[in-house]
Amino acid sequence: MSSNISVYRICGFCGCEFLAKKTTTKYCSLKCASKDYKRRLRNQKIENSNLQTIKIKNQPLIDLKDKEFLTVKQLALLLGFSVKTVYRLINTKGINAYNFSKRKTLIRPTDIDALFDKPQIGFEVVVRPVEQSKQAEIKDCYTITEIQKKFNISSGALYNLIKRNNINKFSKGKFIYVAKKDIEVFLK
Ligand SMILES: [Zn+2]
Repeated sequence: MSSNISVYRICGFCGCEFLAKKTTTKYCSLKCASKDYKRRLRNQKIENSNLQTIKIKNQPLIDLKDKEFLTVKQLALLLGFSVKTVYRLINTKGINAYNFSKRKTLIRPTDIDALFDKPQIGFEVVVRPVEQSKQAEIKDCYTITEIQKKFNISSGALYNLIKRNNINKFSKGKFIYVAKKDIEVFLK
């Protein structure tokens, strides 16, 4: 049954306004409908291709996950560590590794999993010195600008210095303060 209604619609492809006979009409013309279909098809192809690329890129990792034994290099890849770190883990954490030859050290990934099950006795959490968190009094502090002027240092260099040496800074009002003794060690 044909209807007599006329509704204004926006074409899903070209975006123009058009008069349609049904509220469900999506395109102004057959041409737009066909073009949009092709566009969706193309997008789908692109998406599939991208998915395939991701899959191929990750394949080495997926393959490694299923292996019973890994070389140091493979384990490093799997864990996202450097080869050196893996060797250090072997030495310090007592991971079972077997040297079949000079260049063939094999590790069982299950031994790595087991590490996570062990309680971390003697595990050292690096804590920043407590002393630094004590806030100095304003009279014993410089503002950032004061330091720049007094020691003739650029703000970039100063912030680098503060960051690199983990120097405590705090803000009060609109100024940022650093304890005199903390910064003088580095600039005097
Ligand atoms: Zn159109």
